[in-house]
Amino acid sequence: MLKATDLMVFYENMLALNNISITCADKQIIGVFGANSAGKSTLMYTLSGIMDDIQKKEGMAGGERITVLGRIQYLERDITDLKPSIRAKRGMVLCPERRRIFNESSVMENLRIGGYLATKKQSKETLDYIFELFPPLQKLKKRIGGFLSGGEQQMLAIGRALMAQPKLLLLDEPLMGLSPLIQSILVRATRKIRDKRGISIIVTEQYARPVLPIVDYAYILENGAAVLEGPHDEILNNPDVRSAYFGVSEE
Ligand code: ATP
Repeated sequence: MLKATDLMVFYENMLALNNISITCADKQIIGVFGANSAGKSTLMYTLSGIMDDIQKKEGMAGGERITVLGRIQYLERDITDLKPSIRAKRGMVLCPERRRIFNESSVMENLRIGGYLATKKQSKETLDYIFELFPPLQKLKKRIGGFLSGGEQQMLAIGRALMAQPKLLLLDEPLMGLSPLIQSILVRATRKIRDKRGISIIVTEQYARPVLPIVDYAYILENGAAVLEGPHDEILNNPDVRSAYFGVSEE
């Protein structure tokens, strides 16, 4: 499905991604874990191509120079030079960090905006699916996005991404700032999205603990580099990971 090789990103002279290679097979859930500033969002922007837009904006504003190196293959084709909008059309859809829903628009409007690439039939079917996946949204259809709770906003952000008909969904820190109860609802929903709709998922999080149970394979980032990677069990049983990312001491 996706194979990114030797990704490097520099913000001016600051190395934010250091030679990262990451693979996501069909219908896999891949976890990318790391502390603040480890490079998770930079990785998601690079995969989705949003980095291209950020680069251009910075360039036009006479700001910093951003350099991106490496290759990205998606659905058997090299997409490294494709615009983010074309990547989205091909089914690579980013659900960005901090939700980024439209605060002044209603839940329904937010979802419809997400469905701009979908046919009428797809939109209707996906809307039904989103309300089944996230029942609280059903009663909030007319509610303005900015008035939703953090958990509801995250459900809406994922719903909006689903409306874009993803084949590969990129979830950037979906659990950030949410209660353990809401986190477990979102983690279960993430697994359902893969199981029921066959969508591949790359999810980033600061803490591995809530998400690790549903991932097939995980990467641990530190200062922009993947210091460890492996299948679910291997990561779960690694003593370094346990102490650093679960708050579990081996003593
Ligand atoms: P967080 O959990 O805080 O979102 P992250 O793992 O997503 O962290 P990134 O946002 O990718 O990390 O940032 C990686 C590094 O790059 C950080 O040191 C950050 O300060 C820096 N950085 C990110 N965006 C820019 C930018 N536009 N210009 C300069 N430096 C940046």
